[in-house]
Amino acid sequence: MKLLEDAIIEKGTILPGDVLKVNAFLNEKVDPELVEKMADEWYKLFKDTKVDKVATIESSGIALALLVALKFKCELVVAKKGDSTNNDYFTASVFSNTKDKDFTISVQKGFIREDENILIIDDFLANGSACEALISIIKYAKANVVGIGVAIEKEFQDGGKKLREHGYRVESLAIIQKMEYNNHVIVFKHKEG
Ligand code: 5GP
Repeated sequence: MKLLEDAIIEKGTILPGDVLKVNAFLNEKVDPELVEKMADEWYKLFKDTKVDKVATIESSGIALALLVALKFKCELVVAKKGDSTNNDYFTASVFSNTKDKDFTISVQKGFIREDENILIIDDFLANGSACEALISIIKYAKANVVGIGVAIEKEFQDGGKKLREHGYRVESLAIIQKMEYNNHVIVFKHKEG
């Protein structure tokens, strides 16, 4: 998606360790017009899919996922970060590459129901750990993952490849093929056709 690629080039910052900082337009300061256009794009891509709920992980996925839920006229479920000490929650572990540590995400039981069709929306797809954890929770709830919408996929990390090999439909609005911290270079991959 050209608008998102332009924002990444103009407002994104490459940090050491293959991290792209997008706090100027996607999370700490959010460009609502851009986010709405992104939601329109995901809606176009998934409009023929039955979506009962959208799910994301707090906090950076929320702004994106909320607008997608609005397009699909459904509710948004937000997985909380941090351990939940009671049995009312499904939990799963995420390894954060950017922070180099594990953390837990949890969703209250009953917020995702058996047989519901869930569209996952998140800001980044890197090694896939966050998505895999959310998928586990959706499976514990006996619901279906009908698609994964990602704002920025870092293709040089293998999360997208793994998820697609497992049969999930992953739609990324910007795919970064290569990112060089020292040279300030970002190379995007474009779909053929
Ligand atoms: P994964 O679990 O796929 O390795 O990483 C996905 C999660 O880590 C995303 O939800 C996002 O919060 C964070 N993340 C991964 N890579 C980046 C990055 O380059 N920039 C930012 N801002 N977050 C990232």
